[in-house]
Amino acid sequence: MDPNFTLNTSRCIIHFDVDAFYAQVEEKRDPRLKDVPMAVTQKYLIVTANYPARRLGVTKLQGITVAKERCPGLVLISGEDLSPYRQASKQILSVLQRFGVAERLGMDEVFLDVTEEVRSRMARGMFAPSFIGHMHTSKVELRQETSHRPMDLRAARPQVYSRPQQAPQGGPAQQEQEWEVALKIASTIASEARAAVKAEAGYRTSAGISCSKMLAKLVSGMHKPDDQTVLLPPDAPAFVAPLPARTIPGVGYKLEAELTATGVSTVNDLRAFSKASLVSSFGERVGSYLHCACRGEDPTPVQQSGPPRSITVEDSFKSCTSFTAAVHILQILVPDLLIRLREDFEEYQRRPSSLTLKWRQRKQGWSRSSTSIPMPVQAAAAPAKEIVEEQDTAGDAHEADRRTAAAAAINRRRDYGACPQGKPMSKREERLLNK
Ligand SMILES: [Mg+2]
Repeated sequence: MDPNFTLNTSRCIIHFDVDAFYAQVEEKRDPRLKDVPMAVTQKYLIVTANYPARRLGVTKLQGITVAKERCPGLVLISGEDLSPYRQASKQILSVLQRFGVAERLGMDEVFLDVTEEVRSRMARGMFAPSFIGHMHTSKVELRQETSHRPMDLRAARPQVYSRPQQAPQGGPAQQEQEWEVALKIASTIASEARAAVKAEAGYRTSAGISCSKMLAKLVSGMHKPDDQTVLLPPDAPAFVAPLPARTIPGVGYKLEAELTATGVSTVNDLRAFSKASLVSSFGERVGSYLHCACRGEDPTPVQQSGPPRSITVEDSFKSCTSFTAAVHILQILVPDLLIRLREDFEEYQRRPSSLTLKWRQRKQGWSRSSTSIPMPVQAAAAPAKEIVEEQDTAGDAHEADRRTAAAAAINRRRDYGACPQGKPMSKREERLLNK
C-alpha cells in the first residue's frame, strides 16, 4: 500500500444496487414486458428502461419524445404511482437485513456492513477459497454509461482476479493480508445475499465490495447487470485519483460547481488542498469528508435503516401565483400523502406529529421557504378513507387494469393544466402563506 495513504481496512462493506429498478418491478408485475423494449416514465422523462430498450438507445432521464424517436416500438409504463416500487424496496431491504447492518439509500440501493459476519466466519474457520465476481483495479479501463451521470462508472471489459495462490482447505493462504482474507469472505456473502434477493424477492442486483461505503458504491455498477465487483484497499487511492470530483458520493451539482470555481475537476485536484483549507471553504463535515475521500478513505458508518423520519409528497408545476392555485395544488398532493400516512400507520402503528409545507420560488435564483404546524388531528386519525376505499375496490380488478386505473387516477389528480390561476395573491394571502 502507498505509504502516503493509510486506509482503514478493518471493515467489510457491500453496496447493492437493483438493476433498472423501476423496469424490473414492472417486469415482475407483467412478465410479458421482459422481452419487449420498455421504459418507465414520470412526467416527460424516462426514469429507467429495461435492457432490451437500452440496447436500442433508450437511456435514463431521456425525454419521452427522444426515446420514442430512437425506439418507435417502446412500451411506456407510467411510474407516477410509487407504491409498487416502495413495496419492492421494502421487500429487498428485508432480505438484505439478514446479512448485516443494512442502510437504505433511495429506493433501490442498500449498504450492508458485514464486518461482524465476516469475523464470525473467520472464527469458525469458514474461509473463502477465492474472490467471487470481478476485481477492479486502477488499471481497468472505464467507459461512461451516460454523459450526464459521471458517477455511474462501468468497466470497459470484464476483469477477473488473477492472484496466483489459492487458499488451502480450511485456512487462509500464506502471505495474505487480513483484509484480503476478510474481503474474500465478504464477496461470498455478497453473492449469497444477491442470490437470496433473486430467489425470495425476484430482483437482479449488482454489488460492490470494499472497506468503505464510498469505495463499495463506486465499484458496484462496474459490471452491471447482475454481477459484483471487488476493490482492494491498496488500489483505492490510485483508482479514485483520475475520477471527476462529481463521482464522490455526496458531491452534487452545487458542490461540484463550487469545486470547479476553485479549479478542482478531478478527485486528484482535491489533494492539493490541506484539510484546514477544505474545512474553511466547505465547513467541518463536508471539508473533512472531501479530505478523506480524495485519498480513497471514507469513515462514514453504515447506519441501520429504521422507519422513515418523515413522509414527503412533492411535485413541480409551471406556475402558482394565486392563493386559489396554491389550494388547488395542495388538493392534488394531499390524497397521496394521506395514503402514505395510512400505509405507515399500518406498518408502524404511529401517527405524525407535525405537518410541514415547503415551496420554492424563482426570484433571482431559487428561494426555498417552509412553514410547520402540528398535524391536524382529523388527518392523522383517519387517513384517506375514501381514497383508500377507491384503491381497494380497484384492487379487486385484474392487476393490469388496477394499475392503469391507479395511474389514471394519479394523472387526473396531477393535471396542473387545469389549475385555476385566479387573481394574483393579495398581500393578506401572501402573509398567510408565509406565516
Ligand atoms: Mg439501480
